[in-house]
Amino acid sequence: MTITIKPIPCLTDNYAWWLRDPATGQTAVVDPGEAGPVAAMIRAEGTGLDWILLTHHHGDHIDGVAALVTEFGAKVVGASADARRLPPLDLALAPGDSFTLGQNFGTVLDSPGHTLGHIAFAFRAAVFCGDTLFSAGCGRLLEGTPADMFGALAALAALPDETLVCCGHEYTLSNIRFALTVEPDNAALREWAKQAQALRDAGLPTLPTTIGFERQVNPFLRAKSVAELARIRAAKDVFR
Ligand code: ZN
Ligand code: FE
Repeated sequence: MTITIKPIPCLTDNYAWWLRDPATGQTAVVDPGEAGPVAAMIRAEGTGLDWILLTHHHGDHIDGVAALVTEFGAKVVGASADARRLPPLDLALAPGDSFTLGQNFGTVLDSPGHTLGHIAFAFRAAVFCGDTLFSAGCGRLLEGTPADMFGALAALAALPDETLVCCGHEYTLSNIRFALTVEPDNAALREWAKQAQALRDAGLPTLPTTIGFERQVNPFLRAKSVAELARIRAAKDVFR
């Protein structure tokens, strides 16, 4: 393991993600939607906080930033294209730029669709994809087009199968309910429905999954065309 990764439940169904590079002790948190649970995890781990990584501008991903900067002096990293809507950035990055946590090399991926200016942080071990890709689902198209989201999902799908998918929400069970209407005969998806329910019944996160697994169970990642993605995204928007 080149990097230690833990989900931090925040708000109703958000996850912030805590990262530590064991070689150097450098730490980061992705998308702190509130400060309290994140600060509690940092104190429990007995570390500081070097970096805060932001995928997009929504409050449920950034509202903890100011308090964490004040308490730990962390530096804030986000998309230069969205700097106007993000908290003050110490490091503004563009798609294609790299970001290194200790000895872990990461790349910034353009990830538009849910918002414009949304980015993902792809390390060798894990990708932090905010509200672009969820287990068995994808983010709502609040700002971008189906073509934007199709491109963003294609970039994530191109990552190695074993890449951990560290996303912004615990939406897995409701996503699976919808996904089963798209692919009722998908055996891997039907099995995931049982396993994910068991995890939630035990009070455990269903995340991270992996890119290879999502390629089996996620109809949005499996969509073959922009038109197909647009059709299932529109169906999900009105699904109850
Ligand atoms: Zn969002
Ligand atoms: Fe969100």
